[in-house]
Amino acid sequence: MSQATDQEPRQGLGRARGRLRCPACLMHETLCLCEALPRLSTETRVEVWQHALELERPTNTGRLLALILPSCRLRPFGGPRGAPPEVELDPERRTYLLFPAPDAVVLTAELAHQDPRPLTLVVPDGTWTQAKRGVRTLQAGLPALRLPDGRPTQFALRSPRRDLDRLSTLEAVARALGIIEGHPVEAALLAAQRLMVERTLFTRGELSAAEVTGGLDARGHAHALSAGRQSRMPASRLAKNNG
Ligand SMILES: [Zn+2]
Repeated sequence: MSQATDQEPRQGLGRARGRLRCPACLMHETLCLCEALPRLSTETRVEVWQHALELERPTNTGRLLALILPSCRLRPFGGPRGAPPEVELDPERRTYLLFPAPDAVVLTAELAHQDPRPLTLVVPDGTWTQAKRGVRTLQAGLPALRLPDGRPTQFALRSPRRDLDRLSTLEAVARALGIIEGHPVEAALLAAQRLMVERTLFTRGELSAAEVTGGLDARGHAHALSAGRQSRMPASRLAKNNG
């Protein structure tokens, strides 16, 4: 099996260029998340429609969802890879687009349980612009659900100022599953994202090893030593990240 190397030019990871990445979670091999991730069974199915430009970005959270939820499927759209996926409507399930479209209805526990059929959530995954563009071609008449107002994003890896009010894909799904299936699923998903965020900030030199939840194993410490730095995240950003 081939392994991806650093290839996320927009994230400025040049300092670690050449390190091998885990082919599943795309983290540096020494900081692989896979063994730390829970496996969560849900009745709700999640289809993440992942923009082509997201497929190899280590900071993509749709990939993380697929590693945690056996009921989650990733489907590429956009870019040169061809036509968007078709929505496969299962009469035994209720299928919704999870996206704040103008006609979206707020997801509530009442809505989730007013019909015995379980839900399938189709979730566009990409930048805000990619997602909006994708929704136009993907919506295919699907009714849309939006999340009730809640906490701002805790995802500190991309353009935090611009995207503070935009949840990551994982956060949006976590919040929806919290409403549909209960708080423990939401909490476990958010904890996994926090682990990914902290390890990534560590690789960027913005968080010290001691500040990474659960600490680092020997390989993680070797990563720090080989990077030759002992940097620390500014206290203000850490506070925000710990939310
Ligand atoms: Zn991994």
